[in-house]
Amino acid sequence: MLTYKVQLYPNKQQKAKLVEQLDSCRKLYNKLLEECRKAREKGEKITQNTTQSFIVELKNDSMPELKEVYSKVLQMINYTLWVNIKSLSKLKKNGCKIGHLRFKGKGWYKTINYNQSGFKIDEHKNKITFSKIGTINCRGLNNRVRKNKIKGIILKRTQTGRWFANIQIENTPLVLPKTNKNVGIDVGVSSFIVDSDGRRVENPKNIDKQLTKIKVKQQTLSRKKKGSKNWLKAKVQLAKLLAQVTNQRKDFLHKVSRFYVETYDFICVEDLNITALSQKGNKNSKRSRTLHRNILDASWGQFFNYLSYKAANANKKVVKVHPKDTTQECSRCGRIVKKDLSTRIHLCLYCNLELDRDYNASINILKRGTGCTSILVENRSLITITASAIVSGQVFSMNQETPSFK
Ligand SMILES: [Zn+2]
Repeated sequence: MLTYKVQLYPNKQQKAKLVEQLDSCRKLYNKLLEECRKAREKGEKITQNTTQSFIVELKNDSMPELKEVYSKVLQMINYTLWVNIKSLSKLKKNGCKIGHLRFKGKGWYKTINYNQSGFKIDEHKNKITFSKIGTINCRGLNNRVRKNKIKGIILKRTQTGRWFANIQIENTPLVLPKTNKNVGIDVGVSSFIVDSDGRRVENPKNIDKQLTKIKVKQQTLSRKKKGSKNWLKAKVQLAKLLAQVTNQRKDFLHKVSRFYVETYDFICVEDLNITALSQKGNKNSKRSRTLHRNILDASWGQFFNYLSYKAANANKKVVKVHPKDTTQECSRCGRIVKKDLSTRIHLCLYCNLELDRDYNASINILKRGTGCTSILVENRSLITITASAIVSGQVFSMNQETPSFK
């Protein structure tokens, strides 16, 4: 199942309705939880069906406001509650020390879950109609939503009061032609990644610029009196900026991973869970643990996730190899050539191979992943691909054969 996120633009009345319904949902959740607790205290058996039937009683009795909420949405609250109860008792069985499920305070209930029914999408007009709410304008509906079977929509309110629809679509396999090509990808130090076909994908240039902006906003926030009107305003601005940065990064990562899945059948990467990241980062001393670095670390992990699920969906393969010495090893003769992080070139004392250090590593990764030792290694100039070229889609029309020279 894939989730596709679009922003909703409810009008004033719809907004009020949404907020009201959200609070009704919260109250119902708390009420059902309370009933479960009471039953437990009395030693009575209570099931998902019992609480389900409560909902009907509550509607006709003490909580008439529930009539304003789509019935399937109410069912999903009960469902969610029981998912929580079950996962909690599972944790307890496994010996984890945990408390009770908590009641949700005002503002702590954030989703309205339309499962299977109660919604209608008009992708041509960018509108979604929700039963008991109305037709809400949105932005970003496209082919992907149209072509796929929609399983449900979860309406979500952000901290800043914006509304999003998470559209859940059935995963249809991607049909891509086989290319019979393999590639090794190394996560770079000065660039985002370098691959064994000689591409150097640059880091998005705007990271630093945006980080400066974020820092300024964070400082502004810290100077305001907590809880004040200006504090709240600064908080909203900061959240908006962070969301913007996250979206841009995701877009970049989606496009890079798509490019590799379309171009190759067999993709080899380092297993980041082992040591690679700490090895790559630590030696950079103070600078290494900056916010910039943290974001990059997170990006690589996310990139490999995207790569894995896209590959699985297109019947292609991603292999994770052990990262030990991928940088130190000579990709031609296999001897270890020690180098620290500042050495950008791999220069082998034994076989005279001279290569970009990350390019050398990417070939080692390819060798480990494919088990193929007879890869012809020669010096070549790397082709630099900027993040903006990827984001704008130019990279898809790029000639996939990169030139090599001796
Ligand atoms: Zn060598």
